[in-house]
Amino acid sequence: MNGREAAPRERLLADAAIAADACRKCTIGYERRKNVYGEGDPFARLMVVGEGPGETEDELGRPFVGRAGQLLDRMLAAIGLPRAQVYICNTVKCRPTVPGPNGPRNRAPDAQEMENCRPFLEEQIGVIAPEVILALGSPAAKWFLGTDFQITRMRGRWNVGPRETPLMVTFHPAYILRQTGGQIDGVKRMVWDDLKAVRAKLDEPKEREIEAVEVTQAGLFE
Ligand code: URA
Repeated sequence: MNGREAAPRERLLADAAIAADACRKCTIGYERRKNVYGEGDPFARLMVVGEGPGETEDELGRPFVGRAGQLLDRMLAAIGLPRAQVYICNTVKCRPTVPGPNGPRNRAPDAQEMENCRPFLEEQIGVIAPEVILALGSPAAKWFLGTDFQITRMRGRWNVGPRETPLMVTFHPAYILRQTGGQIDGVKRMVWDDLKAVRAKLDEPKEREIEAVEVTQAGLFE
């Protein structure tokens, strides 16, 4: 085992967060207030990946703490996962903005920003080695599955993510919050289905447990 493998996950993540904070590969690295590396349980079974920090996240240096984040917390709680048991991060660690009449406005990260930030997310996945990844929204889905991914047609299915990790894509909580009128119930139902699939995947017995059951059952008929 080399020193890197032996280092505790917390330390690897803390070191990578320092490197992310020092990164200035993109213009947004100079514009942002705080780098938003990610947070949560370093041994989380579920990793949630959004697109990029918004205004509140930029101010506090924490992912998903604005309105969309509050909804995400409720979504996770609905499948029995308190936020503290999950690892939450984004495809990019700096807030992407466009100028607006009342100050900078959020925008989706562009392809170059996502590429520049790729090593940080890859490292997070490598260190945490989650059992399931949940990608929120189209930019995160495209980060994992390529630019042909179409969220309305392709969400809600199991994909194979990095390190063979089962990967589910669902709508971003900010998208849910933007829905009005007749759309709301349909979108909420789809997201709920996707969350239930994540719960079911986490509840699937692991191979070792299946083997143990088979051994016990084999003994029954001796
Ligand atoms: N939206 C995201 O995609 N990520 C955040 O951290 C907050 C809002």
